[in-house]
Order: sequence, then C-alpha cells, then structure tokens
Amino acid sequence: MKRILKIAALVVLLVVVAVAGLFAVTFMGRQSLADGYEINRVRVVADGFSGMAIIRLDDGRVALVDAGDDPEGAAVLAELQRRQLGPEAVAAVLLTHGHPDHLGAIARFPRAEVMALEAEVPLVEGRAGARGPLPRLFPVSPTGVKVTRVLRDGDVVTVGGVPIRVYAVPGHTGGSAAYYVDGALLVGDSADIASDGSLQGAPWIFSDSQAENRASLVRLERRLVADGAAVKAIVPAHSGAGEGAALTSFARTNRERP
Ligand SMILES: [Zn+2]
Repeated sequence: MKRILKIAALVVLLVVVAVAGLFAVTFMGRQSLADGYEINRVRVVADGFSGMAIIRLDDGRVALVDAGDDPEGAAVLAELQRRQLGPEAVAAVLLTHGHPDHLGAIARFPRAEVMALEAEVPLVEGRAGARGPLPRLFPVSPTGVKVTRVLRDGDVVTVGGVPIRVYAVPGHTGGSAAYYVDGALLVGDSADIASDGSLQGAPWIFSDSQAENRASLVRLERRLVADGAAVKAIVPAHSGAGEGAALTSFARTNRERP
C-alpha cells in the first residue's frame, strides 16, 4: 500500500513538473505586458494577466479591443475615470477571440456594441467549446455575452469617426481577428513579442492549430501591405508591443519554410 502511495505521489509530481515546464516554455522569453503603453490613439491597459486596448474615438467616446480577465473591469474603469469618462462612454468592444480571459468586463459597458467575426460567435457566447489542447478541457457553458454586430473578414468598421480594419487570422481559435487602427495592429493571442523584439506565433497549448496560425500571420502581413496599412506597432494581449517590422520578418522566415 505504501509503495502504491509513493508511486502515485511520484506520478502527481511528474505531472506538476511537466505542466509547470510547459507554462514556463510558453511564457518565458516574452516582452512583458506594458500597462500604459501608447501608440497614436491606442493605449494598453493591463488587467493582470490580460491586456486590452482603449481606442480614443473622434466623438469623445472610446472603443475597446477585448475586455480583459477581470469581471469587475477595475483597471479599465480606472483608466476611463482618469479620462473623466464613465462606462457608458465605451461605444464598442471588438473581440479578437472568445477565450474567457478576453471577455471579462463586457457586462460593465451597457452601451457597447459587442463585435466579433462570425466564426467566433459560438465560442464568444459559450455555445461551443475552444479546441486548443488546454482550453478543450474546460466545460462549455453560456458566457452571458451577446455579439451584437457580426464582423466579416476585410470589413472596415467606423466607430465614433475612426475606421478600424478587420482581418481574419484563424489558428489560435477558428474565428480569431486582428484589428488595424491608426498605425497599431491589435493581434490578441495570435502573436506575442519575444524579449529580443521578434514576433512569435500563438502558443500551441492554447491554440486550435499552430500551423493555421502561422499561415494566417504570413497572409496578414501581405494583406496589410496591399491595403496600405502602415503598421508602426504590433500590440498582443499577453506580451509587450513590438515594431511593425517584426511581422515582416516573421512572414519572410515562415514563407521560406518548406
Ligand atoms: Zn486566447
């Protein structure tokens, strides 16, 4: 009996070490998330583990890209207050994807239109589960979030006078989106910036398909060039921001791969 307990303890220990190792490999070597980072009309608000972006609109309101991890929305409400705005000033929440650490504070913004790509709506609303190796272990249940405006790949959505370009980048999730606004490319979890400034694709453990994610990023680079969208900064949700050139290098390297 004692021996069985010892073996069980050893197995548990090995599993814990393996999971910790996976997390370390996934998160180490990234640029750390920078609360207050600004590029043109975009400002990053760090909400613990997740970052979201506040976009200053021409009509005095703001739009958000993602809504963080915190259901209370403390960090984003504090940032609104700093601007002498209340929660009703949030005109829209544009979701990069439907993982729960991006939906947190949506209920705090009663006037916000909630936007996501059509393919992502079931995940956002909790009618379908995520398919990544780790997310698939979690049960599917309604999130209480309702997408009020369905986006399509290639849309240019104008919110409060500011045009925002919508790009489908499937891979991290099936309906993942990237948004381009005023020199900033908001990529959610589809990419991270490493400590050396290079761009890396989505971590496999949280992603539906790493190969599809890589292909989407290569395609995204080509489409941004074709659209004349000059990317000054790439803004991920779980790492610090990087220069636009990081996506160009990533695309060159990954295109050349057989
Ligand atoms: Zn995610």
